[in-house]
Amino acid sequence: LPTPGVGTRTTETHCPYCSLQCGITMTAGDRPATLVPADFPVNRGGLCSKGWSAAELLDHPERLTRPLVRADPADRSSPLVETSWDAALDRVVAAIRRTQAEHGRDAVGCFGGGGLTNEQAYQFGKFARVALRTSAIDYNGRFCMSSAAGAAVRAFGLDRGMPFPLSDVAAADVVVLVGSNPADTMPPAMQYLDAGRAAGAEHIVVDPRRTNTARHADLHVQPLPGTDLALANGLLHIALAEGLVDEDYVAARTTGFDQVRAGVAGYWPDRVERLTGVPVQQQRRIVFALARGKRSIVLTARGAEQHRHGTDTATAWINLALALGLPGRPGSGWGTVTGQGNGQGGREHGQKADQLPGYRKITDPAARAHVAAVWGVDPEDIPGPGRSAFELLDALGTDGGVRTLLVLASNVAVSAPDARRMVSRLRDLDFLVVSDFFLSETAELADVVLPSAMWAEEEGTMTNVEGRVIRRRRALAPPGEVRDDLQLLAELAERLGAPGFSGDAETVFTELGRASAGGVADYAGLSYARIDAEQGLFWPVPTADHPGTPRLFTERFAHPDGRARFTRVEHVPAHEEPDADYPYVLTTGRVLAHYQSGTQTRRSRSLQLVAPTARAELHPDLARRLGIAADDVVELTTRRGRARFHATITDAVRPDVVFAPFHWGGASSANALTDPALDPTSRMPAFKVCAVAVSRVGGP
Ligand code: SF4
Repeated sequence: LPTPGVGTRTTETHCPYCSLQCGITMTAGDRPATLVPADFPVNRGGLCSKGWSAAELLDHPERLTRPLVRADPADRSSPLVETSWDAALDRVVAAIRRTQAEHGRDAVGCFGGGGLTNEQAYQFGKFARVALRTSAIDYNGRFCMSSAAGAAVRAFGLDRGMPFPLSDVAAADVVVLVGSNPADTMPPAMQYLDAGRAAGAEHIVVDPRRTNTARHADLHVQPLPGTDLALANGLLHIALAEGLVDEDYVAARTTGFDQVRAGVAGYWPDRVERLTGVPVQQQRRIVFALARGKRSIVLTARGAEQHRHGTDTATAWINLALALGLPGRPGSGWGTVTGQGNGQGGREHGQKADQLPGYRKITDPAARAHVAAVWGVDPEDIPGPGRSAFELLDALGTDGGVRTLLVLASNVAVSAPDARRMVSRLRDLDFLVVSDFFLSETAELADVVLPSAMWAEEEGTMTNVEGRVIRRRRALAPPGEVRDDLQLLAELAERLGAPGFSGDAETVFTELGRASAGGVADYAGLSYARIDAEQGLFWPVPTADHPGTPRLFTERFAHPDGRARFTRVEHVPAHEEPDADYPYVLTTGRVLAHYQSGTQTRRSRSLQLVAPTARAELHPDLARRLGIAADDVVELTTRRGRARFHATITDAVRPDVVFAPFHWGGASSANALTDPALDPTSRMPAFKVCAVAVSRVGGP
């Protein structure tokens, strides 16, 4: 382990990757910086391989350190060349002015990321509405958490991914994980599950793959992808039939159960077995376990949510939890396991198409008046709701669509569904600006690329999977001419003639607190000093003497009547089902060594050693039928495109399902295959299910 020496100092901060936001101690003076895990309440001294290797990238030779522009501004195929910030921003401002003069304000758009700090996300939303006066802003969290968020707002009146601390998971008697694989996505979180099991808890994993999390569980249930809603409705059917519903809780704390009771009547266990592939005995075991537990928790994640009916699917699992009397009971409940580092905060502060800071609706006159007063503008001047992420991207370059786009911390050329179509849309733009650490696949297409500060080089706050607001602290200065995105937005706003934007994180956080005051996600009582002193606080924190809210809903839910709402939901077949041309089901997901679109982790030498190439998982029966051996190169083909992977032959997947990781672009882009059919509520694409054909194209 590194020892702090002469000329070095230590800084307590957090891992740049997933929503667990593990605490780390950076030792930085002269580069290179090093890190060790911190004994922070979340990770308690644990880190996964991504966290351990995070410092490698700070000094990576491919790091962008100066702005880049096209050598010939009129020719996007001309090379990117280094320039000064002044010259780069001149081009950006000229493009914004030209586009808005020719095509209107909404022809300039903004696209953000779930890795931005709360301050950056807040300032990006304000920049769009005040400096650009455009409605065209959304972020990549729309591709991640939006279905769970929609379901939570519908049921509880409020979305905070996990409405209880992680420590409740360790204390629960029963935990059911649906489409969630923390053993690979956030390994230090497994200590909570391990502690529970050591104390005798029962753990059940519902997942089409036998993941590393499923291997740890008492029961692994392996439904066909896209049938989780039918399974949840079937479990509620059994709960009703067996008299396991907590009728007192339902009467006292909820509304709408009669509709749901009628709705699940047709979900007979044998019908659910036919729809999902989950045997009746396993269905019964899940229901009885949840009902008998003194403290039972249901956690869903992307496997259940990234579907065309993801909001209804998450709703079905919430319905089950409500019927069993779990949400709001200490130690019990339903939660969703957020993915991106600031996926939670990213959707609270106004970088979503339909929201203002404080998780307020942009269509709410009172919300507009409150936020307008903080911003010093007329409420009438705040644009209305814009298009959701995929719809915004799919209209790029069209009449009525965005023609100049500013992208912060997002690599949509790899992470958006139907990725090759997205690349073509990005090429259709009149002007593309990308701020990133590396020349991502999206940045490669840009007219201007701006080098942004990495996690250890900036100040700010993040809101983790539990709703705990924590501090990202600057451990070292950024290299070259790299700037924080806050500074970029402040400078651009000034050039556009919009005052009131700061490049200082604490100043922006104080303003964010005022803008959020009285909203659902109320940060008004938070300050950097309090977060430092108290190792993070759980929102809402409405006043400076409020202790924070680790557990929500213990007294009342956030709907005006204080009750949770049941909503009747029905199983609908996946948008694409297997047929003669595409006979199998493709599902996508993550692997331990990589994160999101891989812009960072694919450049990490130590992570590349572990997972250098994209590997698709096929069942041995399927591989035998198709003449595929381990390590062969296989081509997966869907109605949208084709991509190549090395084959891993494993019975961890069902014989009718193929798994592909989505961390790679180019020839191994899983999202070149995925279906952009959208959830009607959340506008989430159907990442997790489409029909696919498989063929062998070569040996290892
Ligand atoms: Fe980082 Fe998440 Fe790994 Fe923790 S679990 S070290 S936050 S990637």
